Amino acid sequence: MKTSHSIIACVAGLVLALGGGLTVANLRTAEATSSEARFARPMKEAVAKQQAAAGTDLTRYGVMGDEKALSLLSNNLKACQTALKAAGVSFTMVPAKQEGACGYSEALEVKASLADLTPNPGAPTELPMTCDLAARMHIWERHVVIPAAEKYLGSPVKEIKAFGTFQCRTIAGIDKLSEHSYAKAADIASFVLADGREISVLRDYYSKGPDGDFLREVRQRACDLFDVTLGPDYNEAHANHFHLDVGGNSACR
Ligand SMILES: [Zn+2]
Repeated sequence: MKTSHSIIACVAGLVLALGGGLTVANLRTAEATSSEARFARPMKEAVAKQQAAAGTDLTRYGVMGDEKALSLLSNNLKACQTALKAAGVSFTMVPAKQEGACGYSEALEVKASLADLTPNPGAPTELPMTCDLAARMHIWERHVVIPAAEKYLGSPVKEIKAFGTFQCRTIAGIDKLSEHSYAKAADIASFVLADGREISVLRDYYSKGPDGDFLREVRQRACDLFDVTLGPDYNEAHANHFHLDVGGNSACR
């Protein structure tokens, strides 16, 4: 039906156009112009999005603030890189990797931020992550982790230890690939303070003192930033770390 309608419309348009003195060449130009108009709007919107994302200021972002600005950084590598650099994060892009159904094409490794992200002893030494994850990690570190450490423990955090980011595996107990399979997730084990103390998720999460208060607050407020935040309250598999991911699902447990 649709096809025959558009054929009729086309023929009618041709008759009208020729009747109006248009040549076939002019008709082609007219068609091109109308198709340009059709694409111009989405193009304009894409450029506006790109500009808005590029202007995302990670240093001024309030945790309860603009979720939309953050979502603009997803699948927007250039804008995301610009935002990271502007916030003083140095990083290097890492080569694409494919491992069966797992892998990534645009991952980076953070070289320097306010606190160092380092592998936990025994963990893989490389911590590749998507730019989107790095941006959210930076906001979490800057606006949540460091202020909370100062508030509860009287010292900023200088190091965040991770069990890893990329790993080709399924979610524990479920036959579905984990966001770690795409470098879209980080498992955080502990926080080393500037004064040398180390606050561990496994040892301190349920402690009644300031160590526990600090850990519970940074986990709770991670939920404002990451798509999925899981910790010891969720299950035994998360007793020793916070799982933070940007895979697009939604959970805060
Ligand atoms: Zn995880």
